[in-house]
This record gives sequence, structure tokens and C-alpha cells, in this order.
Amino acid sequence: EVRGIQRALGIGVEPKLTVNALEVLRRRYLLRDESGEIIETPAQMFRRVARAIAAADGAYGDDPKKAEEEFYLMMSGLEFMPNSPTLFNAGTGTGLAMSACYVLPVEDSLESIFTTVKNMALIEQSGGGVGFDFSRLRPAGDMVRSTKGVASGPVSFMRAFDTATEIIKSGGKRRGAMMAILRVDHPDIMEFIASKAKHGVLTNFNISVAVTDEFMRAVEDGRDYELVNPRTGKSVKRLSARHVWSQMAENAWKGGDPGVVFIDEINRHNPTPHVGRIEATNPCGEQPLLPYESCNLGSINLSRMCKNGDVDWEKLRRTIGAAVHFLDNVIDVNPYPLKEIDAMTKANRKIGLGVMGFAEMLIKLGIPYDSKDALALGERIARFLEDEAARASEELAGRRGAFPNYQGSIWKSPRRNATVTTIAPTGTISIIAGCSSGIEPLFAVAFMRHVLGGERLFEINPLFERVAKERGFYSSSLLDKVVRQGTLDGIKEVPEDVKRLFVTAHEIAPEWHVRMQAAFQKYTENAVSKTVNLPRSATPADIEGIYSLAYRLKCKGVTVYRYGSKGEQVLNLGLGE
Ligand code: ADP
Repeated sequence: EVRGIQRALGIGVEPKLTVNALEVLRRRYLLRDESGEIIETPAQMFRRVARAIAAADGAYGDDPKKAEEEFYLMMSGLEFMPNSPTLFNAGTGTGLAMSACYVLPVEDSLESIFTTVKNMALIEQSGGGVGFDFSRLRPAGDMVRSTKGVASGPVSFMRAFDTATEIIKSGGKRRGAMMAILRVDHPDIMEFIASKAKHGVLTNFNISVAVTDEFMRAVEDGRDYELVNPRTGKSVKRLSARHVWSQMAENAWKGGDPGVVFIDEINRHNPTPHVGRIEATNPCGEQPLLPYESCNLGSINLSRMCKNGDVDWEKLRRTIGAAVHFLDNVIDVNPYPLKEIDAMTKANRKIGLGVMGFAEMLIKLGIPYDSKDALALGERIARFLEDEAARASEELAGRRGAFPNYQGSIWKSPRRNATVTTIAPTGTISIIAGCSSGIEPLFAVAFMRHVLGGERLFEINPLFERVAKERGFYSSSLLDKVVRQGTLDGIKEVPEDVKRLFVTAHEIAPEWHVRMQAAFQKYTENAVSKTVNLPRSATPADIEGIYSLAYRLKCKGVTVYRYGSKGEQVLNLGLGE
């Protein structure tokens, strides 16, 4: 009702932001004038974005004012957030693009490689992340006809991308992020697998090995497989699949890289096989894309989709509809950094709607994350999201037309978007919305968060604070303990059922992480960003087991993180770390 009145009066609802959200917004999102002074409030930021995105409606004879109001309310109500570049750039008149995800082609020539470095720089300027498949590059030591020299191979060229990104970082709003992919049958695969083993190299890259079904069968059977020179198409060497597999696990055990991308599974779900094969994903792996394709993401805050201890399905349905409308509009108003990206993106019109705050929804519903009930809820949410988003896209197609590549696609009825759902990490937008990230469990009940610039922000989970007060075990000495260790483990005054509910990422067995990823993947058109957390004591063999399980459960990729294995972490447990 208050909203109705405010709407009638044209007044903006001030969002209920946490201290950390305000801090993040002030540092990187709110518009500044030439002297660097902040010139908008968070409410004005959401208004700016809502208006710029709603403007697309005019071209279809719809009322932009109505859409603007709807978009504004769901953002300022912290129910939906578009990916960061949309918040950074929409309505600013800077000409910077609004998508988080891109894939650029890398062909086997100096011309192509350095054109792509340049194009990458243009994308990074807007805050987007880029993925590349380096598999077309001839291997190190191969012949270079023009100079009669020898080729230096994919890994050495990756350094050029890394250095360029490093330089751009200093000027931009956040450090750049890239994904490098190499097929498991590329002759330089062993060098690639170990390319991040040394501390401080290729730090702007996530790396993933593109693993094929054939390779997985060779691992199972204990066979050798062939490495093929992409320039000649000839087999140059044979390797033991199990050896390569174990080296992947060994390196991931040491430092988190490489991850794995199940490239055949990805292509089984490629919605436009007639347009091209998918070879790469964006930096965090949740968005497979064709070369020169971009995608804009958005996430619904599930912790605001609960009512009386249950899911508020009606509210969720409405929010999904509005979010699909929003993300589809972004495609029209987005100033793309390259004409090739403009053309490819508008031909497929991919969007990636996902969720965040899933851990908090589970807590509100009284379901521990590592339980069968949680998996069932995850699957149900993913399916609902998928059904409703697809329906909204079909409705849009009825009024605005199907995506241009629709004929020949895998879809049976016309829809506006080649894909509609993606589960993003929501690294920063979840801070703005004040909820847990993506479909991850709570990272900690209380922790210090490192943000850009090296400062640390203290956070206690507000749901825990509330439960502790309601149940009468809240005290400052309790909080001290929780902050020191991050978890509730061994704290006597906390009842068992509360401990169970507030279970954190590192206390959850790795298998549950994989199963939750698979539960969401089952009904997600693109991929699911999820970290499989492992205890410090986990072994490389444990990691091999996780990779195999992810493959069997039809995940599109998998990334592990063993506690303490990376020097620099964005999040750290407890004060003591
Ligand atoms: P956000 O919360 O900022 O919207 P996410 O953590 O959900 O972003 O990441 C979604 C995608 O956005 C990533 O997979 C990547 O493509 C891109 N991205 C995230 N962080 C960065 C970054 N620092 N630089 C470039 N791209 C990024």
C-alpha cells in the first residue's frame, strides 16, 4: 500500500541497504561527476537503470513508464538485480556495454590473436568478463612458415592477454576476469594444466580443460588417447587418459585450477547447433557462448520470495516475468563494443536469469543445506524458474517476434530468447541485495570480507542474529566466538537444530555441493556456477572423485576449492585468518 501511494506520488522507495551494500555501491556503482564526486543515491541509481532499460518498450508500442516502475520496484526492493555492468553503465550515456559475459574467437594467426586482445580490452573497459578457447592455436614448437621459426603455443599467448588485462584493471572499476579453455586433446595440454601452478602467474585467468566424452571413456577404461595438432589435424602423441586426469586433479588440489568443462554435454544442449558449436564459456563457467556472443544476466533474490515459512510462488512467478522482460530489453538498448558482437547477440538474444539467496531461503524454510529436502527444493525452484522464464519468453515472442535464429534451433515453439536461465555466482550483486551468493551455502555465519582496495568489512548473518535473539542465546561473548571461527561448530550455547540449519560451505561434504549443482543444472538451460568446497585435508584422489561424480550427474563443468589452497581469497573465515 505504501508503495502504491509512493508510486502515485512518483516518489522513489529508498532501498533497505546493509552497510556493506552501501559501501560497495559508493565505491564502484554510484555515478560520479568529472571531479569524482558521487552524484546519485542508490534509489537514483535504480531509477537510472530502470528508466534506461524500460526505454526499449517504446519501439514495440508498450508503455515504458509502466515497465520503468516495475523494474524500479523490483530492484529497489532488492528482489532482482541485473549483472554489475548493467548497474554500472545503463543510462549513463558513456556508451559502455551492459553484459557480464562474452566469448571471443582466437584463430591461429598473430593477426587474430592480437585483434582479440584489443577486443577483449574494449569489453573489459565496461566491466564484462571474456572467455576464450585457445585450442585452435598450433602447439609450442610447431612450425611457423612465414618466419621459418617455431610457434610459442597457447600458454605463452595467454600471457599477452593476462598482461593486457592487468593494465586495464587499474583504470576500471574492478579487476578483470577471463576464462581460458583448452581441449584435452591439444598437444600442449600438460603445460596448460600446470600453467597456474606457480604463484602469481596468469592471475586474471580462470582456466578450464574442455573434456570430451571420449576422453572420459578413456579414463574409465584406463586407455591412452591421442593428442592432435589443430593446424595439421594429425595425431602427434598419445597420453594416458588417467595420467592427465590425475594431473588435473593434482593441480586443482594445489590451487583451484584448472576447472573442468564437459564440452560435449554443453553442446548436447546448444540451442542453436545450426549457427555453430560452443567451445567456451564466460569466466565463471555459467554461460556457454558462441564466438562473438554476449549474454546479460540477472538474479532473483530468493530470500525475498518467502512467506510464512514457505516459498511465495506467486511473487516468484511475477518477478520472473518482469525479470525476463527486463533482460530482453537490455539486449535492445545495450551499446555493444563490436559490430560482430552486436549481430551475434541480437540473432540469438540469450539471457541468463538465475537466483541468489538460496541458502537463506532454506534457512527460512527450516531446511539444512546438506539434506535431501534441500536438493528437492533446489530442483523444484530451478524447474519453476525454467518453466516460467520460458513461458515469459514465449509470450514476448508473441508480441515482439522470436529470436532471429529460431528456425533450426532446438525449440519447438517460438520464443524470444535462445536461452533464458543461468545460475550466476552473483559475487557483488548479492552483497548489494544483502543475501547469500547464488545457490551457495552460507560461507560463514560471521566473517570479515575483503573488498577491493584491501579493506575488511565485518558481517554477521542477520538471520542468525534474529534466531539467537528470539531463542534467547544471543550474547556478545557468543558473537565473539562465532566471528573468531566463522562457524557454530562446538559452540555449546547454540542448540543443535540451529547449528544444523546454519551449516557453512566448508562443513558440508563435497558430494552435497556437487549434488546441489546437479539439481539446479537439471532445469537450467545454460550452466550453473558453483564452487565445490573441500576441507584442507582433502586429497587429489578426492578431487578426481568429485570430477567423475559431476560428469555422471550431467553437470556442464566443475570447479573445486580446497580450503586454504589459494593465497589470496576474496572471503576469509574468521578473524584469525
Ligand atoms: P556480479 O555479481 O558482479 O554481477 P557475478 O559474480 O555474478 O557478477 O559474475 C557473473 C559474470 O560476470 C562472471 O562469470 C563474469 O563473466 C563476469 N564478471 C564477474 N566479475 C568480473 C570481473 N571482475 N571482471 C570482469 N568480468 C567479471
